[in-house]
Amino acid sequence: MTAELAFNRSVDVEYGVAEEMAPGVRRIVANNPGPYTFLGSNTYIVGQGEVAVIDPGPADKAHLAAIAEATRGERITHILLTHRHRDHCDGARPLQAALGGEIYAFGIEGKRGNAVIPGMEDYTDFGLQPDRVLADGETVRGAGWALDVIHTPGHARDHLCFALVGQRTVFTGDHVMGWNTTVIAPPEGSLAEFLASMEKLLDRNDKAFLPGHGGQILTPRRVVRAYMMHRKWREQTILACLEEGVNTIAPIVDRLYGGLEPGLKGAAALSVFAHLEYLIERGQVETEGPAGLLSTYLLAETETRRAS
Ligand SMILES: [Zn+2]
Repeated sequence: MTAELAFNRSVDVEYGVAEEMAPGVRRIVANNPGPYTFLGSNTYIVGQGEVAVIDPGPADKAHLAAIAEATRGERITHILLTHRHRDHCDGARPLQAALGGEIYAFGIEGKRGNAVIPGMEDYTDFGLQPDRVLADGETVRGAGWALDVIHTPGHARDHLCFALVGQRTVFTGDHVMGWNTTVIAPPEGSLAEFLASMEKLLDRNDKAFLPGHGGQILTPRRVVRAYMMHRKWREQTILACLEEGVNTIAPIVDRLYGGLEPGLKGAAALSVFAHLEYLIERGQVETEGPAGLLSTYLLAETETRRAS
């Protein structure tokens, strides 16, 4: 097993220009690059004439203008959100105000709990109520296209993937990304949910994933399997750390992610925390009091016995 997943990061991007990704699918990349967004957020336009916009992206004037330009002479009937992280959804209401379309998203009410890192909830627009609430397993139909809704919590509680019917192509949002492993930030994020959502994709037979950030993935099942192996490797490494007495998050992050750029350390700490939370849920790890970023973690007694 290897620690590094192989991603194709050499994505050539021209911001604001619609590019055909598949028959009836266009992509526009927003100019909001950063440590969590790679080159920027991907907005997809599905169909022709009467179209759906998947993830309008940030509320950025130039990006909204690019969507307007790409859909000139067409009508936006649907605005679909993979989840309510602001880099995907902030443009939804402004786009609707300018060009119409009903907003579709999974239904959530409020927060799950306090963020592990204060301010983390600012990434989510909890107040954004869709015009139509989507549920797992339903199909959204437009003019000449249909999208199956797959609820894939893990990265975010409300996360949806959309499978383009008849094309074996899935819009994967941040559940499977084209450039990095997915950030899981408890309490909105959950590793247990993420793994169950990955299984949902493994059960399918797709030929392409179109992620919310980064380029398209043309070996979907291989990538999903590699992701799951990667998570397993991290879990084994964390358990090994605990066994050696390395039992707080910061040194475990250094062990797991040597040479990480400082901007991503917070995300890495959250990822380790998500793993520890998962191991606690399964009774393999213990901590005193509520689990947090500064807590001390120990192998559970049963786990110690199993290891020895
Ligand atoms: Zn996200």
